[in-house]
Amino acid sequence: MERRKRASHGVEARSADLLAWYDRHRRVLPWRAAPGERADPYRVWLSEIMLQQTTIKAVVPYFARFTARWPNVHALAAASLGDVLKLWAGLGYYARARHLHACAKAVVERHGGSFPQSERELAALPGIGPYTAAAIAAIAFDAPAAAVDGNAERVVARLFALKDELPAAKAEVRRLTKALVPAERAGDFAQALMDLGATICTPKTPACVLCPWMRACAARRRGDPETFPVKAPKKQGRLRRGAAFVLLRSDGFVLLRTRPPTGLLGGMSEVPTTRWMPDFAGGTELAPRLRGTEPKWRRRTGVVTHVFTHFPLELVVYTAEVAPPAAAPDGTRWVALAELADEALPNLMRKVLAHALG
Ligand code: SF4
Repeated sequence: MERRKRASHGVEARSADLLAWYDRHRRVLPWRAAPGERADPYRVWLSEIMLQQTTIKAVVPYFARFTARWPNVHALAAASLGDVLKLWAGLGYYARARHLHACAKAVVERHGGSFPQSERELAALPGIGPYTAAAIAAIAFDAPAAAVDGNAERVVARLFALKDELPAAKAEVRRLTKALVPAERAGDFAQALMDLGATICTPKTPACVLCPWMRACAARRRGDPETFPVKAPKKQGRLRRGAAFVLLRSDGFVLLRTRPPTGLLGGMSEVPTTRWMPDFAGGTELAPRLRGTEPKWRRRTGVVTHVFTHFPLELVVYTAEVAPPAAAPDGTRWVALAELADEALPNLMRKVLAHALG
């Protein structure tokens, strides 16, 4: 009994130490409520979706553009998916944009435009996984949820010098984090853990002397905090190759098409490409065919490289120019070069066009 009491006192002291640190060192972020103010669930949700797999620096301008154009969930739900994809273009992981739009609609249709407060109901919405549901529940509604992002995962693994490998140890990290969440200020606690991981308990050189958990931290006591979390070796996908065809019309147009609505880069714009395969051999046999004219393809020197989550990609780029009025083949369209900025072009395609037109 005495031991349990001491343990719970230890947990409370850790939470209190972290919150006291947060009160002094919290980061000011555009989506974050000022101290003592209630967070706007729409802004919390939008920022959490944008931040998945992406840095804060990259997200800030996108967040500003989205909230200026669609200041609330009703406005976003009423937008077209095409417009959402266009504003998202360049931020990557485009399934997030499609889910974002579907989620806005679901919040309006199922919940009258108010985000539900429980993790369970949040997790039932499109694009909201267990982490995001916990983060929204904690930050927007102060629910005692364990929001374990990569930063929090690293801090907690070090605090307990967890020897089990990630990702298998994720459930254990979650359990340990959950036990640390205080009954009050759960939202601040979640954000404090994220801030601690982002600014002090960094992957390579944790600044343990500045850390509110310096005394409590088991990894710091061992003297090798940077070796945590222990990670299973990553499997990298095989390199895939393909060709991209940049067809220009001499009056200032380029041939584009829209990718299928789901799957990799779903719904985004692209120049025609071959399939991307490990054993791609090159050539223009699969280049788009135009009725009445035969484009003369020239291969640009060099390749465009891009790394997706599951595989790296290498594209050779062919260019050709035809005279107007060349009819666009089925499933493609001519887009004015001056209007390319309005297209939902993923980073890969921006690189391809820069390579072709540079
Ligand atoms: S003491 Fe060091 S390793 Fe431990 S949580 Fe703090 S910064 Fe991270």
